[in-house]
Amino acid sequence: MFKKVLIANRGEIAVRIVRACAEMGIRSAAIYTEPDRYALHVKRADEAYFIGDEPLSGYLDARRIVNIAVETGCDAIHPGYGFLSENAEFSRICSERGVAFIGPSGDVISRMGDKTAARASMIAAGVPVTPGTEGNLSGLDEALTVADEIGYPVMLKATSGGGGRGIRRCDSAEELRQQYPRVISEATKAFGSAEVFMEKCIVDPRHIEVQILADKQGNAIHLYERDCSIQRRNQKLIEIAPSPQLTPELRAYVGDLAVRAAKAVGYENAGTVEFLLSGNEVYFMEMNTRVQVEHTITEQITGVDIVREQIRIASGLPLSYRQQDIQFRGYALQFRINAEDPKNNFMPSFGKITRYYAPGGPGVRTDTAIYTGYTIPPYFDSMCLKLIVWALNWEDVLDRGARALEDMKLQGVKTTASYYEEILKHPEFRAGSFTTSFVPNHPELLNYSEKRHPSEIALAIATALAAHAGL
Ligand code: ADP
Ligand code: ADP
Ligand code: MG
Repeated sequence: MFKKVLIANRGEIAVRIVRACAEMGIRSAAIYTEPDRYALHVKRADEAYFIGDEPLSGYLDARRIVNIAVETGCDAIHPGYGFLSENAEFSRICSERGVAFIGPSGDVISRMGDKTAARASMIAAGVPVTPGTEGNLSGLDEALTVADEIGYPVMLKATSGGGGRGIRRCDSAEELRQQYPRVISEATKAFGSAEVFMEKCIVDPRHIEVQILADKQGNAIHLYERDCSIQRRNQKLIEIAPSPQLTPELRAYVGDLAVRAAKAVGYENAGTVEFLLSGNEVYFMEMNTRVQVEHTITEQITGVDIVREQIRIASGLPLSYRQQDIQFRGYALQFRINAEDPKNNFMPSFGKITRYYAPGGPGVRTDTAIYTGYTIPPYFDSMCLKLIVWALNWEDVLDRGARALEDMKLQGVKTTASYYEEILKHPEFRAGSFTTSFVPNHPELLNYSEKRHPSEIALAIATALAAHAGL
């Protein structure tokens, strides 16, 4: 087993990885840029290395990070999610320098990180994909021709996209003409690649993804599915495991498809195969070759520590479980608490956390790197906390979610927590029946009145009185 793991990430996922290392008796080394000087991942890791004043570039400097790992005696690097986690070159540099990369090989990352290459691999493996272009589009003319063939609405997608960006729905040729240059410029800016492709738009689908684990010995298993249909602008907000809207047959089918997909590309480590479902039709969408933000809910229902398995696999150990060992129990929900103002078009709300009281009690887990007095820097993601709840059945997990959201006190920044309380009350959500259109179809859920803490009300009254007295 490894002696020391360098964590090439920050925030809650870096803390999550430190925790797995600590339980396994492995030392952890953090890296940080100036705005993260007082970050929790730095405090919690056994060692921490400064990588520059500039907020972002240090976290993206593959060579420098691998150098630090070598110089400080780390035998492995965990990339987390985002940043360099799906960067094939990073995985290759690690293997050149004799540092284990906790993820798949560079070749597998290249094949699956490129969405058109991934589609081609899946077609070859007999996995159904969304109808669309075979490769990347050569230009607007080809886009218009393909759209006529597959029929509107269509989706224009950035080939190396991620995080819900670089995706546009086009309902007509006119819209396609408008959107085409926009997607290209967004893809170039966000992902450094102008490649785009086209898929048929599946109207009102459910987003179902399967967690898989595969070792170097050729074993591959799945840990069942997550339902991530509650999204805004193609970004996940609430994730659910297992999906309350799959029959046992469909569940078994997507699980098998995911394992087939992983085996077809010689996959190694933890990964997620994402599908869109429309009725009983299943379409492969993409594969994420890393640990996902929502891996937590799968851990809650199966009891498997996914990060621990990742580390074991990278060190050459076989999977700790066979498929028949994997069982799931109850339901888990994850709320992505983002520092955003739901009442103001989800505008980011960075700043100092004046008060944080963590929710607790039975069936509650929080993965976060915030604390009272911490200032959320504006340079990174707006997700500041993951609140995960588990209960034996669907009704109970909904009630537990509402209770835990109410338990939590997070002041100083606006968050999406209050919006999730509204979603939890909605009959369609409670009935366990929703598609990726749930959020856009229910703008009225944003018209709730703000609950305010007594101290905030007292402050508002004092301020008003002071103003009145001319102070
Ligand atoms: P998950 O699939 O785990 O739910 P998200 O799509 O929410 O993850 O992405 C997690 C983080 O990784 C976000 O910060 C997102 O911006 C970033 N990310 C994901 N894919 C890419 C990519 N291809 N390029 C750059 N950043 C990405
Ligand atoms: P990312 O890499 O950003 O996660 P995905 O390809 O996984 O991108 O798509 C993100 C989301 O966009 C999906 O969960 C789904 O809601 C929507 N989406 C993507 N492709 C399609 C499609 N062909 N039809 C309908 N919705 C789609
Ligand atoms: Mg995706």
